[in-house]
Amino acid sequence: MTRAISLHDVSKSYTRGTRVVDRVSLDIEPGEFLVLLGPSGCGKSTVLRMIAGLEEIDEGRLLLDGAYANDLPPSGRDMAMVFQNFALYPSMTSRHNIGFPLRFEAPGMDPRPRVDATARMLGIEEVLDRFPAQLSGGERQRVAMGRAIARHPSAFLMDEPLSNLDAKLRNHLRAEISTLTRELGVTTVYVTHDQSEAMSLGDRVAVLRGGVLQQVGTPRSVYALPRNVFVAAFIGTPRINLLRGMMRAPLGAAMTISLGKQYLRLPEPLSLDHQLLRVQQGREVIVGLRSEAVRIAKPSAARPGEMALTGLVEHVEFQGHEALVHFNTGSSPAVVPDLEAPRPAARSTRRRREGGPGVLDRLRDRAGALRAGPVAVLDEPRSTAPVTPPEGRLPGDLIVRTAPDIDLRHGMQVPLLVDLAHLFVFDHHGERICPAPARAPDLEE
Ligand code: ADP
Repeated sequence: MTRAISLHDVSKSYTRGTRVVDRVSLDIEPGEFLVLLGPSGCGKSTVLRMIAGLEEIDEGRLLLDGAYANDLPPSGRDMAMVFQNFALYPSMTSRHNIGFPLRFEAPGMDPRPRVDATARMLGIEEVLDRFPAQLSGGERQRVAMGRAIARHPSAFLMDEPLSNLDAKLRNHLRAEISTLTRELGVTTVYVTHDQSEAMSLGDRVAVLRGGVLQQVGTPRSVYALPRNVFVAAFIGTPRINLLRGMMRAPLGAAMTISLGKQYLRLPEPLSLDHQLLRVQQGREVIVGLRSEAVRIAKPSAARPGEMALTGLVEHVEFQGHEALVHFNTGSSPAVVPDLEAPRPAARSTRRRREGGPGVLDRLRDRAGALRAGPVAVLDEPRSTAPVTPPEGRLPGDLIVRTAPDIDLRHGMQVPLLVDLAHLFVFDHHGERICPAPARAPDLEE
């Protein structure tokens, strides 16, 4: 049996007045693989633990197969959890670790056939008589998975099950989990902060920020049509280029988005999406360009819908199959709060050393105060001083994906073409306004 899991306006506070999960609503279909994705501390595990019955629900309703389940004890929910720290009993062999829950779930039943079948499925027959200390990390995690699978639960709840493993093993087990859960057809809720894991595993991905659900959709739809700047920045590698822009829409003249020292002229006749931008005249916006939306080419090579910019090469990242070129185009990157885990200790030390909060500290603090509020910070005065790049980014405001054999060096001025069919525009709160939200109903969920 597999089950439907529904959350209706579910909230949770550990300290009064601070919701770590804030009115989350989510319908998970029977057999679906749903990934809860977001930065560390955004409330993912708390949601999972509320589904498991390990954490009380303060407000809202949990429905299991349509039946009210807020007060159902964990043992009555028929769900199996897999944790990041494997949680195996050190004094038991793999066989006994896998069979242990069956003692309570099916007393009197001989656990051996189920344990053997599960071990075959996971390819761990050889290690059934070993103790956890005699197993590799990957084997231990397979045993932990085996313990969940052998129970034949109606749902798997997985909390960062691969994060203690090295990258190669993680990729391998990721594929195994995907195959296994699909074969078993059991509803799976999987928590991770790793967007590439989420994108490769999930039938759908639910993105959380500060306890608030930002968007739920297929991996394709959250990448192609992020609802706001936070989702746009959280999903995709390299991170989407987010530039501060100013809409200029004079009557009777071309509509442009000014990007500091350069501007993008919107092609005429204006598309419906671009026409809708007219109301933003004179306002600050955020321009989002994925690295594949820009190419290195002369203006004379422009195809319809491509507009020219120039960029100064800051840095070239060789990746083997491609290169990522970091350009300075004279624009300012937009700041998106909450993208990374907050680091309070480091923040207070730095503040003490410098004798006062810096701009980034102030932006982060403000972002903290607005956890469920705007998803971008634009109202700091624009300055001509060098802009500190957002965390995790190297200098330069525009990253472009190119072929790996390109010969570019620091300081070269290079012509660029921007494909405006792949242009995102977000308003000053960080909500997407282009493409307009209702324009692609098949992708928008
Ligand atoms: P995530 O899984 O996204 O990393 P969690 O759900 O574990 O986030 O935590 C969300 C927030 O709730 C964090 O700020 C965390 O510190 C806080 N939190 C989690 N568990 C407890 C608890 N038992 N008591 C108090 N605060 C908690």
